[in-house]
Amino acid sequence: MGLLEVDRLSVEYGMRDGGAVRALDGVSLSLDGGKAVGIAGESACGKSTLGLAIVRMLQGGRVTSGTALLDGEPVLEMDPGAFDRTVRWKRVAMVFQGAMNALDPVFTVKQQMAEALDQHGFKGDREARMLEAIASVGLDGGVLRRFPHELSGGMRQRVVIAIALLLRPALVIADEPTTALDVLVQAQIIGTLKDLKERGGMSFMLITHDLAVLSEVCESIGIMYAGQMVEFGPAEQIYRNPRHPYTKGLLESIPTLRGPRPGHIPGDPPSLLAPPSGCRFLGRCPRAMEKCGEEPPGIGMPEGGYVKCWLHEEDAGGRGGGVRNSASL
Ligand code: SF4
Repeated sequence: MGLLEVDRLSVEYGMRDGGAVRALDGVSLSLDGGKAVGIAGESACGKSTLGLAIVRMLQGGRVTSGTALLDGEPVLEMDPGAFDRTVRWKRVAMVFQGAMNALDPVFTVKQQMAEALDQHGFKGDREARMLEAIASVGLDGGVLRRFPHELSGGMRQRVVIAIALLLRPALVIADEPTTALDVLVQAQIIGTLKDLKERGGMSFMLITHDLAVLSEVCESIGIMYAGQMVEFGPAEQIYRNPRHPYTKGLLESIPTLRGPRPGHIPGDPPSLLAPPSGCRFLGRCPRAMEKCGEEPPGIGMPEGGYVKCWLHEEDAGGRGGGVRNSASL
C-alpha cells in the first residue's frame, strides 16, 4: 500500500441551470512515500481539480464516486472537522497555483508563518519550526524578517513551499509551482523539491502543463485529458515509450535546443458538458480507428501503469499486458 492511493475518483461541478459537469472522471493513481508523481495535461483537463479533491477544497464541486487513501485511511469519507484537524496541512498540504503572489504584502514572512502555525493550533517552539521550514527550502533565516516585496519571485515561491511544510506533512501537492518563473529560478525550485524528496523523505504531487519540469523530479507521471487520466506509469516508461497518442503529442511539443521543430496537437479538447461517448481524444488523434468513436477505450496495463486507448489492445498479447474494460479501473 502506497502513501496515496486514488481509485476511480470522479468530481462534478454544479451548473447554474441545475445540471452538472464532470470535471474528473474515474481517475486512479498511486504514490509511494518519499517519491513524486507528476500530473500533466492541457488547461482545464482536471489536474487542479484532482489536487483540490484530495485536500477537500473543491469550490462548488463534489466527489461523486471513488476513494483516496492516505496511508490506508479513506480521507474523503472522514468527517470534515476531523479532516481539517488531523489531515489538512498536517499530513497533506497544498501549494496553490499562483500562491507566491498571494503572500500578504503588509506582513513579514515571519508574521505570515506564525499565523499559519496559530491557525492550525501548533503548540511547540514556533521560532524553531519557522527556521526549520525556511532552511528546508534553502533560504536563510533572515528571510523571516522581510516583506514579500523584498524577495525575488523564486524566493517568494520557496517561502510559500516553506509555509506548506510548517506542519511537516508527508505529502505536498503543488499546483504549477514553477509557472511564471524564469528558467534559472525554475531550476532553483526544482532543485529545492528534489532535495526535499531525496534528503527529507517528502512526497510530492506536482501538477503542471510542463512535462519537462516533471522529468527532473518525478518517479511516476500521469497524463490527463478532458477529465480522465489517459496514461499513468513510471516516468522513464512514459518518456521513453509513451503508449497514448496524446502523451506522444505532448512529448513531441517540448522544444529542444538542437532537435527538430516541436510539433503541436491540432484541435481542442471536447466540451465536458457533453463529452463524446467513445474516446475523448478521437477528434485530434492521428491513429483513430472506427471503434474509437463507438465505445470508451479499454484499459491497457503496461508494467507499473495503465493506458486508456484501444491501440494498446494490439500490443497486449505480445507484451503480456492485458486489457480491461474502462469500467474496471
Ligand atoms: Fe486515438 Fe483511438 Fe487511442 Fe483514442 S482510443 S487515443 S482515438 S487510437
